[in-house]
Amino acid sequence: MKVCVIGTGYVGLVTGVCLSHIGHEVVCIDNNEQKVKLMQSGRSPIYEPGLSELMQSSMDSGRLTFTTDLAMGVNHGEILFIAVGTPALPTGESDTRYVEAVARGIGEHLPTDAYKVIVNKSTVPIGSGDWVRMIILDGVKEKGGDPTVVQFDVVSNPEFLREGSAIQDTFNTDRIVLGSSNDKAIALMKELYAPLVGGKFSDEGTPTPIPVVETDLNSAEMIKYAANAFLATKISFINEVANVCDRVGADVLQVAKGIGLDSRIGKKFLQAGLGWGGSCFPKDVAALIHTAEDYGYHSQILEAAVEVNKRQKLIVLEKLQQELKILKGKTIGLLGLTFKPDTDDMRDAPSIKLIAELNRLGARVKAYDPIVSPNGISHGLTGVIIESSPEMLADDCDALVLVTDWAEFQDLDFGALANRLHNRLIIDGRNFLDKDKLTELGFRYVGVGH
Ligand code: NAD
Repeated sequence: MKVCVIGTGYVGLVTGVCLSHIGHEVVCIDNNEQKVKLMQSGRSPIYEPGLSELMQSSMDSGRLTFTTDLAMGVNHGEILFIAVGTPALPTGESDTRYVEAVARGIGEHLPTDAYKVIVNKSTVPIGSGDWVRMIILDGVKEKGGDPTVVQFDVVSNPEFLREGSAIQDTFNTDRIVLGSSNDKAIALMKELYAPLVGGKFSDEGTPTPIPVVETDLNSAEMIKYAANAFLATKISFINEVANVCDRVGADVLQVAKGIGLDSRIGKKFLQAGLGWGGSCFPKDVAALIHTAEDYGYHSQILEAAVEVNKRQKLIVLEKLQQELKILKGKTIGLLGLTFKPDTDDMRDAPSIKLIAELNRLGARVKAYDPIVSPNGISHGLTGVIIESSPEMLADDCDALVLVTDWAEFQDLDFGALANRLHNRLIIDGRNFLDKDKLTELGFRYVGVGH
């Protein structure tokens, strides 16, 4: 099928690459010319395991192209994905201006002789399906077109991929959600996803069919927010348990194992640590709280999940102060900066707040991250010296803090690092390192509820 994906960030690019890999002819559009030039030359503007290789093979097959030309993309695609960002406004509300610009642009270029399915892949506030329809029709009118003759329907198809395993998640997704009241649009979406639904692109041995959940538009949009709000709340819950563990002398790792084996609870998202961040949870939880308020409902559980998370981001400070007392004049080394491993995404990473607070308290902050290079300034980072190796990071530090659980940090030669440190203190903000081994090496190890 002919597909157009508008917005080539973490979601749009992965969607475009994966859809072309399963056999569709995909045109990816972005209004960032530099990005498009980079992609046209076969390079991915983001770091995502396996993405560059898959992108290259799809381009070689001739099924994947990149352009800034929206008119061309709208003409090409029978299915048009909107996959632009929806960041949070200071009020918590979702900023839908990019979706609006794209919807208007689609309307301006919509042909009168072809039916199109417009898909909201971006996470958009509940009710956006009808709103996008309205904006598209405005675009048609603004170009002097006749809104009664264009043929299109809007479908909500929320995305559940996780950065760091986005390709795998796309091919092995737990479900595909399609929200629309229009049978023709749903049928085309099912045809699009048919190669995936059979499970043959899954790497999990025997292909397992992927469930397709058909809903109305509003419910599909709500599914996305409810899923993220639940997962964020689950993390805040275990962090709260960890904080009590710290006080009563229990170990949250053992507690998480003990409760996670209960199938009603499940093992995932029970890792205590520095709290949730990234480009989705904070803004999606804030947007759901905001929507609830708009409709006269105060969401107490979600407010509490956010509050716990705010406090959790600073738990490292408390632990550093307990161990080192005065932080002014001390050097703190951060292992990891990105909000989670295997991504270069720094949006709402807990490290940002931590760096700011350490600076405020007069500490010098250094960091090493496998993906954030010393010119990490391009990631908007200030108040931190970015070192190019763990060894250089260790030099003269009064404490190391593990912020991101990159796998390679488990294999670091902590014996060698210990000799370069000023003080053998490690705060493991993700309960990720080998406590016994570090203790044997003479480190004072401090985990989170562990
Ligand atoms: P992103 O910021 O990485 O990418 C957005 C892209 O859209 C950018 O490349 C930008 O240049 C482009 N863009 C903006 N305006 C445009 C326009 N008018 N025309 C063409 N391109 C335009 O965003 P993302 O992380 O991929 O997120 C996209 C959406 O998917 C958001 O709504 C997000 O909430 C949702 N989502 C994200 C994830 C994730 O892990 N990142 C997961 C699920 C859902």
